[in-house]
Amino acid sequence: MPDLDSQFYRLLADTSYYAEIVGDEAGTILCASPSCTTILGHEPQRIMEEPGLLKDMIHPDCQSTWQIHMDILKTPNACHSALLRINLPGKHPVWIERQAQVITGPDGELLIRSSCRRVCPGESETISSCELKEGSLTGLPGREYCMLQLERLFESSRRSGEQGYGVIYADIDQLKRVNDSMGHSYGDLLIRQAAERLHEHLPPMGDLMHLGGDEFIIIIDNTTPRAVIRFVKEIQDAFKKPCILFDQRVTVAISMGIVLSPVSYVRPEDLLRNANIAMRKAKTSRHGYKVFHARLLEESLRSTEIELDLPRALTDGEFYLHYQPIISLESHVLTGFEALLRWDHPKWGVIRPDEFLPIAESTDFIVPLGEWILKRAMRDMQQLHTKRPDFAGLSVAVNISAKQLNRYDFVNQVQKALSDTGYDPELLKLEITETAAMTNPELTDTRLGKLKKMGIEISLDDFGTGYSSLSYLRTLPVDCLKVDRSFVSGMDQSQEKQQIVRSVINLARDMNMNVVAEGVELSEHWDMLKVLDCQDGQGFYFSRPMGLDKIMELPEQGEE
Ligand code: C2E
Ligand code: MG
Ligand code: MG
Repeated sequence: MPDLDSQFYRLLADTSYYAEIVGDEAGTILCASPSCTTILGHEPQRIMEEPGLLKDMIHPDCQSTWQIHMDILKTPNACHSALLRINLPGKHPVWIERQAQVITGPDGELLIRSSCRRVCPGESETISSCELKEGSLTGLPGREYCMLQLERLFESSRRSGEQGYGVIYADIDQLKRVNDSMGHSYGDLLIRQAAERLHEHLPPMGDLMHLGGDEFIIIIDNTTPRAVIRFVKEIQDAFKKPCILFDQRVTVAISMGIVLSPVSYVRPEDLLRNANIAMRKAKTSRHGYKVFHARLLEESLRSTEIELDLPRALTDGEFYLHYQPIISLESHVLTGFEALLRWDHPKWGVIRPDEFLPIAESTDFIVPLGEWILKRAMRDMQQLHTKRPDFAGLSVAVNISAKQLNRYDFVNQVQKALSDTGYDPELLKLEITETAAMTNPELTDTRLGKLKKMGIEISLDDFGTGYSSLSYLRTLPVDCLKVDRSFVSGMDQSQEKQQIVRSVINLARDMNMNVVAEGVELSEHWDMLKVLDCQDGQGFYFSRPMGLDKIMELPEQGEE
């Protein structure tokens, strides 16, 4: 008859949340607690009857960890914990932490008692014994395992034709910013918390892997496209909650590229490449996620070609500038031009800046290109001023990208272009998008201040699209707001857009700034803008951007 103590101890094991197991040195399992069923997926009875079962459950990736763990437990009083991936009957593998200890039994024999619990990703850093080659920050399996799982997925979907799968390439948007501004320990914590959130929402047939950095892969088998999209939205919602990084609250977004079956793949790396292409596209899309399709691959190949071709194009003189007139709405006279970059590509013909400038920005090629643009615009204008004395007082506005503005030597670059060409800084305007001005407010403030002192005017481009705070705007040394063309060209159709244009014009007047309305396409727009007391306009209604030769031939001011 067991005494009261041992009955209570028994109760302790029976009600433990952990899977409690006691075995002897030879590997015989002497007792297993009921929680084994939920944690290890097998009834305690079965575990006791099949001593090799535990070892067989260990995932191939973790067999060596298991071996080391068991070797350590051969010493009396040893205590060791290991993070192990185990295969569950009929389910995807899971991670468990096994804490084990060598104890002495009632008859002096050595026993091993162990407690196993499921581990959420992110917790693993406390468990030093687990040596994962990749993704060790989160304890999640890495690239090698991912490749293996994808091969299995292809194999099973070939066999059972109907079965659908979804693979998601997820990437945290602001990791670099967190790393740069708060430090790497914050970044690491962010990655771990992201892993936890992804894991929390993982569907039953889902598998989560960490490729490294801020990149995660989620494989969902036996699913439908609709369910995958629902999952993606759920993840986005989960990320709306701020992450608590030590003393900071940070809200990040996550971009997801999705590959859906039945696109047939042979090589896992092809699927990953496509998912990655879709993910990068997702970063610039409104929804934050993107399903891969063949056109994306074509686009991606083209942008790679563009990227490689940019430096050659500059040396071969394939870039040139077009100039779009800016007109005073009241007097209808020219007040200046905006310089707009064009690329005459030998294979594709003329490529618009919207396509190649983001690529030039991402590779820093914008820096030498921007220098070229500044000088070209100044030289072209000097030529114009010489040939057309009636245009001598007209200014040129040059667009400046965020990458250029944030370069430490940007002000010097402008100064150098001015002194190399001898151009009058009073006839130069720099257009900076509202979003670029917001990326580093303090830096922007001092740089723009210096430029303004040199006599250069500053315009905030695409105004209305960038959510600037008004208090910030008031401190910026800006001379002019350019109302984004999406509002102006939609004014005749939408009350709301009309209202936005009106507010921007009022705001500019309030702050003693000029306003230029971009995208004036119809006489209706012109009429409306005049009623609103807008100073200048620019758009297809007046003139499309054109080459310097055409500008030279414009009628004399006031002639029309
Ligand atoms: P942006 O600075 O807002 O330039 C105005 C864009 O609107 C130009 O497009 C122009 O052709 C177009 N546009 C002008 N009037 C109308 C109109 O009435 N209706 C419509 N729908 N569009 C009109 P573009 O030349 O394709 O340039 C696109 C963007 O690329 C520019 O927007 C600017 O952000 C950037 N960009 C162009 N040239 C340069 C450059 O030399 N350097 C930098 N950093 N960016 C440039
Ligand atoms: Mg512009
Ligand atoms: Mg604009």
